Order: sequence, then structure tokens, then C-alpha cells
Amino acid sequence: MATATLTIDLDAIAANWRALDRLSTPVVQTAAVVKADAYGLGIDRVAPALARAGARRFFTAVAEEGARLRQILGPGPQIGILGGHMAGDTEMIHDLDLTPMLNSLQQVTRHLESLPGHPFGIQLDTGMNRLGMEEAEWRAIAPIVLEAGPVFLMSHLACADEPDNPMNAAQLAQFHHMTDGLGIPRSFAATGGILLGPDYHFDLTRPGIGLYGGQPFDAAQPVVTLSLPVIQTRDVAKGETVGYANAWTADRATTVATLSAGYADGLPRTLSNKVRLWDGDTPVPLIGRVSMDLITADIGHLSEIPRSLDILGPHQGVDDLAAIAGTIGYEILTALGPRYARRHVTRQTGGQA
Ligand SMILES: *Cc1c(COP(=O)(O)O)cnc(C)c1O
Repeated sequence: MATATLTIDLDAIAANWRALDRLSTPVVQTAAVVKADAYGLGIDRVAPALARAGARRFFTAVAEEGARLRQILGPGPQIGILGGHMAGDTEMIHDLDLTPMLNSLQQVTRHLESLPGHPFGIQLDTGMNRLGMEEAEWRAIAPIVLEAGPVFLMSHLACADEPDNPMNAAQLAQFHHMTDGLGIPRSFAATGGILLGPDYHFDLTRPGIGLYGGQPFDAAQPVVTLSLPVIQTRDVAKGETVGYANAWTADRATTVATLSAGYADGLPRTLSNKVRLWDGDTPVPLIGRVSMDLITADIGHLSEIPRSLDILGPHQGVDDLAAIAGTIGYEILTALGPRYARRHVTRQTGGQA
């Protein structure tokens, strides 16, 4: 196998969706967030697996992603566009039956004028100051908006991965203050918000990262394995150096393996000299700098030269790698590069789906 292989367990994604769905009461619907190519894992295979698991509502960031998702899923499922109704997207929103989450007076005007009667949601800002209407703007146009009948009102939490952060309760109170008594379905919680408990669930939850095995959903089944092929090995003597800037020096005679993947494939350069790879259950240190297309590992302690080593798998998940690299699991996932062969597996079919 010449290219690095990213194996994606579609059953684990489906199981994670069901587990998050079970965390809320039966009256709460659970959507699936599949923006950024399903967090880098391949929307064309991931979205149908989520639909088979029971998801009926999906979210993407921009209309182009939503259009692609409509072609994948066909008519039926609701596709929400978190970026709302942007200039130039009207035709796509109409033709592919997308549901924009309008976030400003300008977007509301654009939508109601260009596509009267076409479904939409409303995005409210409850303190994150990123997307959505603030209270005064919302109060001013709420009568017109409510008349047009939004499918739901939504907002997003800034600190949901920190259960003790007072921001959570403050945003919850503000969401109630802006939406109570309006009789419109509401959506507030992403993965972190679901874990904060039923007060945060309202009518529709919007998990993303938890579906893909990431924190803060600790109980998630792991989803990805990333195997990097060994393309050359060499013996080095004590005192020899390896890679750019001579960043690693052998303290004994050993064997060095060069593997096919680097920072251009989403392996952060901050992993240089820090992370371990795995030969089955045996850890293998990455040595020297991460290059654009290559990394090097000290395999002197292995009895045989491995065909490949895993950098993501049962011993090291996306959040472990993120912690070493100084980032978050979301960034590790969405940076996983286009050069990897993506292999989507399910247990029912016993292999490649
Ligand atoms: C990305 C996003 C989500 C999903 O968040 P996760 O933390 O990945 O579960 C939900 N809602 C909005 C508005 C988002 O931007």
C-alpha cells in the first residue's frame, strides 16, 4: 500500500449518533452536523450512514456543502445552513431545498424578499458574539419573522465543553429570555450542550464532534485509524542525526523508518520529536522534524520491519494527538489531508462498504 490509509468506522459514527440521541428525551430530535466534509471524514459516506442510523436533519456551514449533501441524500432530510442566506446563494437554496439559519436583518430581508414561503431558521446571539441577531435587533424584527414562520430558533454555546463555566447558564437564561412563549421549536445544544443535561436540549440538538469520536463526548466510540506506510528504512550509528535541522541524534545504533505523510497531510509540525506511532500494541517514537510529506521513526526495538505504523488508532485518538500538538481534536480531524486513501468500513458488510 503506497498511500497512507485513513480508515473510518461508519458503524462507530452511527453508534455515537444513537448514543447522543439517547441522552435526550424522545421528544427531542437529534440532528447531525456534517460541515467541512463531515469533519474531514467524507460526507458522501458519512451522511448516508447517519441517515440510516435515523438522522433526519443535517447541518452544513455553507450552501455549497448543503447542495452537495442534497445530491448525496436526495429529497426528504432537512439541510440547515449555519452561515445563513448569503448573497448569491438564493438559487441554490431554492433549487436544492436548503434551510438557511438567518443571522441578521440583512439576511432576513434577503430571504423573505427573494424566497417568500421558503423554509428558514433564525440564529440568535446569546453571548458568543459570532453569528446571530442580538436582542435589540431580534425584538425589532421578530413580529415579521414570526409571521413568516421559522422552522426553529437557534443559538450556540461558547463554553459548553466546560460544564462549570458560568457562561453556560448565562447563555441559557438569555436564550429563554429571547425565545420563551413564542411557540417556535428551539435548538441550542451541540455535543457539549447535550452533555450539560436536559435543560439545554430544547427541541432539536446539533451534535458534530461527538459523532466523530471527539471530546467532550468521552463515551464516544473511536472512529478513525490512520496508518502510514514505511517507504524506506536505514541503520544509523550512534551520533548520527536525522531530518531537517539535525533535530534528532541517535544515542545508540538503531534503525530508522521513513513514513509517507507529513504536515501537508495534516500532521502538525508541533509533533516533531514528541509523538508516538504504534506497531500494533508497541509504541514507536517519531524522531526529528515532521516534514511536508514524510516523518521518521526509531524502529530499532522492533523485531521486524513493519509495513506501516499507526498514528491514530486504539492507542492514540484524535484528542490525544491534539493534546501533544497543542490543538483540539476538531482541528486534527478537519486537517486530515486529501492524499489519504479514505476507507469507510462497516461491520455488517465485514469490510469495505
Ligand atoms: C459546529 C457547530 C455545531 C456542532 O458542534 P460540535 O461541538 O462539533 O458538536 C453545532 N452548531 C453550530 C452553530 C456549529 O457551528
